[in-house]
Amino acid sequence: MPLILLDKLQAIENQQGRVRNAERWGPRTLDLDMLLYGNRQSQNPRLILPHPGLFERAFVLYPLSECAPDLVLPDGQSVYDLMQRCPAQGLCRVD
Ligand code: AMP
Repeated sequence: MPLILLDKLQAIENQQGRVRNAERWGPRTLDLDMLLYGNRQSQNPRLILPHPGLFERAFVLYPLSECAPDLVLPDGQSVYDLMQRCPAQGLCRVD
């Protein structure tokens, strides 16, 4: 099931004109990542769950903590604690 959802996300990226090339951090028209799929954990290179960037990216942790302040990740870490340890790095809220 999570791989089916990933296929759907990538189809939406493609519809929006995304071109996949070897450049890892290059510009893209749209980037849809799967942060979590319930408590599922996966090391399949096509779909790593939870998304590895989730643990260290302020632009992920701050909004995620707002959406789900009590969220606990499959490894037992709380999103709130991770956010507290992650500098905001110039993030600002856009209302
Ligand atoms: P990206 O450049 O962010 O679109 O990611 C490149 C590749 O990462 C994709 O082809 C996915 O198969 C793979 N990938 C691994 N784990 C994930 C995840 N949790 N969410 C989205 N893509 C993932």
